[in-house]
Amino acid sequence: MADLVLPLECGGCGAPSTRWCRSCAHTIATRATEPVLITPRLDPGVPVFALGRYAGPRRQAILAVKEHGRTDLLGPLGDALGAGLRRLLIWGVVSTPLVAVPAPTRATAARRRGGDPVARMARVAAAPGVTIVDALRMRAFTKDSVGLSAGARQRNVDGRIRLRKSALGEGLGEVVLVDDVVTTGATVTESVRVLQTTGARVVAVLAIAHA
Ligand SMILES: [Zn+2]
Repeated sequence: MADLVLPLECGGCGAPSTRWCRSCAHTIATRATEPVLITPRLDPGVPVFALGRYAGPRRQAILAVKEHGRTDLLGPLGDALGAGLRRLLIWGVVSTPLVAVPAPTRATAARRRGGDPVARMARVAAAPGVTIVDALRMRAFTKDSVGLSAGARQRNVDGRIRLRKSALGEGLGEVVLVDDVVTTGATVTESVRVLQTTGARVVAVLAIAHA
């Protein structure tokens, strides 16, 4: 049924007759020097890595998944995240056994229906020795952060990120927080803080894009 409702156009550039064109695939492919270390305005206190800028096909694909239900793009984006994760393992930034925790996103009806996109990308990205634990959730009534200043974004998420009860049982151990887009760093900073309250050792943040 999904094929009937999704337009057959590239989710990155709108090219016809393909869902994800070779040019866009090339654009978001992880280079040998990526992910790169970034410095968001709000510092979570652990290294933050991003696979590229929130622009072009990378941005369009993320928006298409989040806002237009283009679940067919979870594959390419999850693969990029997976490549970044493996690179961090090779570099020794993170090590196995590793838990990857998806950063929580604001729940909307559409996202609840299809499942959280970041969690779904993380599941695509899973590497040997890496367990995905959907440990965090964003409380309802959190505003969409688009257009908010860094301070306003921080106030918007402060106290609104909670641990899922199911994640409290066992210690998480070494954790990498994964996200689609890091902008001011407000969500990842609060997420890292909440994870640390469980005794988790958060060693890095990895995002598909940084704005
Ligand atoms: Zn394209």
